[in-house]
Amino acid sequence: MVHLRDVVKTYGDVQALRGVSLDVTAGELVAVVGPSGSGKSTMLNTVGTLDRPTSGTVRIAGHDVGSMRDDDLSRLRAEHIGFVFQHFHLQAGATAAENVADGLLYAGVPRRARLERAEDALGRVGLGHRVGHRPTELSGGEKQRVAIARAVVGDPTILLADEPTGALDSASGQRILALLRELNDGGTTVLVITHDLALAASLPRQVRMRDGAVEEDSSTSDAGALADAIAGVAR
Ligand code: ADP
Repeated sequence: MVHLRDVVKTYGDVQALRGVSLDVTAGELVAVVGPSGSGKSTMLNTVGTLDRPTSGTVRIAGHDVGSMRDDDLSRLRAEHIGFVFQHFHLQAGATAAENVADGLLYAGVPRRARLERAEDALGRVGLGHRVGHRPTELSGGEKQRVAIARAVVGDPTILLADEPTGALDSASGQRILALLRELNDGGTTVLVITHDLALAASLPRQVRMRDGAVEEDSSTSDAGALADAIAGVAR
């Protein structure tokens, strides 16, 4: 589902990624951990085709991203990829349903159908009673659930979450994690960046980045050792 080989990304003279190789199979739930500045967001944005690599191979859902034109990339994103960010990125002036409907803007769905599907998606994240609320009328956890509904309203195959619990209290964070697990149980491949080491250790696979590269991957190292190490740091 995700195939990165020797991916390098430079910004001027900063090397954000120095040769990242990573394979993620359909249906996996992967935690990405590592210090600030280690390249986690750049890696996620590369998987999400928001960033183009400077060199290396990026294949997403069978498509070789390096050779694709911008409009084909937009279509690939609309069909396959959902994003969730730490600070929600909701439109303040729009209702929950309108925010979620925006997730279908590039999918060629008419406005009325977009809003209907948005209300369905809000129901799936437990916010069926908040469709007409604006972000200022919602708690942090509710805002993040709206953002998740927006990310999944188009039924993406891959959900990418960059610190989705970073701005939430731990109870709300737990609910967001439960929701990500539920989506994963339904077949969505999920990559989640987190600073929360206990959370990371509780997921089936951990990838640890350092200095723009994958330092350790629990799928290729001693099974459980990285989770134990991460959980050990968390304690
Ligand atoms: P992390 O998510 O692990 O904190 P990032 O991927 O955000 O790491 O950043 C990796 C490195 O790349 C950092 O040194 C950061 O300053 C740099 N970087 C990331 N995005 C940009 C950008 N758009 N322009 C310039 N430098 C960037």
